[in-house]
Amino acid sequence: MASDKCSSFLLAAAAVSVFVLASAPAAHSWSKEGHMLTCRIAQDLLEPAAAHAVRNLLPEEADGDLSALCVWPDQVRHWYKYRWTSPLHFIDTPDQACSFVYSRDCHGPDGAEDMCVAGAIANFTSQLMHYNHGSADRKYNMTEALLFLSHFMGDVHQPMHVGFTSDQGGNTINLRWFRHKSNLHHVWDREMILTAISEFYGKDMDAFQKDLVQNFTTGTRSDDVSSWGECEDLLSCSTKYATESINLACKWAYNDVREGETLSDDYFGSRLPIVTRRIAQGGVRLAMFLNRLFGEHDHDVAPPA
Ligand SMILES: [Zn+2]
Repeated sequence: MASDKCSSFLLAAAAVSVFVLASAPAAHSWSKEGHMLTCRIAQDLLEPAAAHAVRNLLPEEADGDLSALCVWPDQVRHWYKYRWTSPLHFIDTPDQACSFVYSRDCHGPDGAEDMCVAGAIANFTSQLMHYNHGSADRKYNMTEALLFLSHFMGDVHQPMHVGFTSDQGGNTINLRWFRHKSNLHHVWDREMILTAISEFYGKDMDAFQKDLVQNFTTGTRSDDVSSWGECEDLLSCSTKYATESINLACKWAYNDVREGETLSDDYFGSRLPIVTRRIAQGGVRLAMFLNRLFGEHDHDVAPPA
């Protein structure tokens, strides 16, 4: 089933930005905010070898800042050259199944195998394994692989990027977010984060990030974090992350939501902790991937087949 979540999101973001252009400074789409947070959290957790490799791979204009380019895969997915990457941002699972089965669900609209966000993470991870094996550059573009991996690690943690097929991950479930029109996918992509930043942090994304990191690293929820990085085989971790997402989508995103209704304080209050936890998890796990891929002791990374 062809679905086009990010693009419909971008369209909505474009509509919003046109609408608020006169009154608001640079309108950031959620997508940008969510991906930037994940990548900033990750980059702060890099060990020296990985930090060096990332700086080395980033183009000059990024000025050493991974988060500046984390949204790049969303920007190029409609370019002719990158159109093939469009199905890599999400997974459609069977309606109401509330499970992810790689062989059943990870395919493109034409049935091509591995064309989903879990397959993409494995693919770009395996490309980056060449970096420390000295076979980089010639066969693959390592910079693009880094940007794709960093972006898709964000997407796979957004519960509604692993949603039901017939509603396109909530894109066709129209409803209201407080006073304005939205849909269930956008609520998870963008609305909750923007509402949190504007309601609780005076529209300051840095303050939001600081609070988020503090909560999970030294704060009340720090016990949780040590288990996030646990994953033996880097090439199959994404299956675990996608499974978590569809479970969260069923338990928290879809649950009790009806087309046409208005979501407000109750939904926001009970679901925001899921959103912040998923952003933090994406960041911690991206750092774990990059530290293992680019670390000086890469013996725990299986050589590419
Ligand atoms: Zn995406």
